[in-house]
Amino acid sequence: MQSLQEKDKLYIWHPFTSLTTAAAPLAIVKGEGVYLVDEDGNRYIDAISSWWVNLHGHAHPYIAEKIYRQALQLEQVIFAGFTHRPAVELAERLMPLLPGNFSKIFYSDNGSTATEVAVKMALQFWWNQSDSNSSLRRTKIVAFNNSYHGDTFGAMSVSDRSVFTRAFQDKLFDVIFIDTPTQDNIESLKVFLHANQDDIAAFIYEPLVQGAGGMKMYDASSLNQLLVTCKQFGILCIADEVMTGFGRTGKLFASEYIDSKPDIICLSKGLTGGTMALGVTACTSRVIDAFVSSDNLKTFFHGHSFTANPLACTAALASLDLLQKDECWQNISMITEKNTRFIRKTGNHHAVKNARTLGTIMAFELNKGKDEYLNSVSSEITAFMLSKGIYLRPLGNTVYIMPPYCILPEQLEVVYGAIEEVMG
Ligand code: PMP
Repeated sequence: MQSLQEKDKLYIWHPFTSLTTAAAPLAIVKGEGVYLVDEDGNRYIDAISSWWVNLHGHAHPYIAEKIYRQALQLEQVIFAGFTHRPAVELAERLMPLLPGNFSKIFYSDNGSTATEVAVKMALQFWWNQSDSNSSLRRTKIVAFNNSYHGDTFGAMSVSDRSVFTRAFQDKLFDVIFIDTPTQDNIESLKVFLHANQDDIAAFIYEPLVQGAGGMKMYDASSLNQLLVTCKQFGILCIADEVMTGFGRTGKLFASEYIDSKPDIICLSKGLTGGTMALGVTACTSRVIDAFVSSDNLKTFFHGHSFTANPLACTAALASLDLLQKDECWQNISMITEKNTRFIRKTGNHHAVKNARTLGTIMAFELNKGKDEYLNSVSSEITAFMLSKGIYLRPLGNTVYIMPPYCILPEQLEVVYGAIEEVMG
């Protein structure tokens, strides 16, 4: 009989995966807390939370039970012209938790759609207000160098040009890319925003940590100054918290570290505890007001078949139940402290540079080959870690961990120990 791996090779094309050089995918048959179990019974600590989505461990019985009960009640319904309890309850429950004064939630079904919706919302915000005076229309988006906001065309356009976007370069719309702010460049960034304020519709940013760009971390107070300046010039601020949301940085949202709050926020990944696909784009009343019109052309014409899927909304409600328990925040603190201690211990190792941590995320560059995503040291480290019963997927030579919050101190020590072996 063919194994899952063999059948997979016949039929399936995997994401971000070379069809020739990549190792065969591991066939996972079971998830159990922090562990993934393959078809041969090997167990791996999922130290990157399965692409940063899982919060409370795999196959969590509490979330599973809630999804099961909802599936018997209502599994899916069109969300134009209909609503349902899980979507309403989730919006009602999220709103006071969000960092800022948000007024409405627009649902979609993943991180790329959450940012795509945000960018479209921001552009139409200006379009809707400019019908009588086209000089009022702002059309430019500002984003950071090294940013990543997803893989659909709008999301790719506002992401830095990279190996991920190279084949589509001439199909992406123009975006103004600026450096992440520091004490040294903030004044020149302010001057730039001032000079271009009449053109800039919105600024999109991953607050404090640029995930796919290599877990790059940057300064909260400089970001705050940048956001204050954007606000001063009427530029809509879009926080992409798809990765940083739901406790990853040690607070519920990274935007909590920053005084100036976004006009639009994008959420996905940990939103459902990592169990189901769901996206949220929340916006303030300033944004909504531009869409309140009897002119049908000012409607936001965007939606997906699985918008606000009831099972996904139910999973998100169940995940929030777990996330709001003291125990969860004690675990987040434990991971945060241990990451800090690990960086203190190993940050000056000769094989390591730029060791850094924020909350449950810890990262460094390994001094091996070029600092780039295509550095093949990544697959070597993944293979080594798997042999130690750990799953890591470095971004090139950027090694990082982002574990589920249910990881135990001793399991975390196993991960650190193996990482020290990689350092040599
Ligand atoms: N924004 C950020 C900050 C992300 O890290 C990601 C995914 N890595 C996305 C958007 C896109 O999310 P998805 O993969 O669910 O489309």
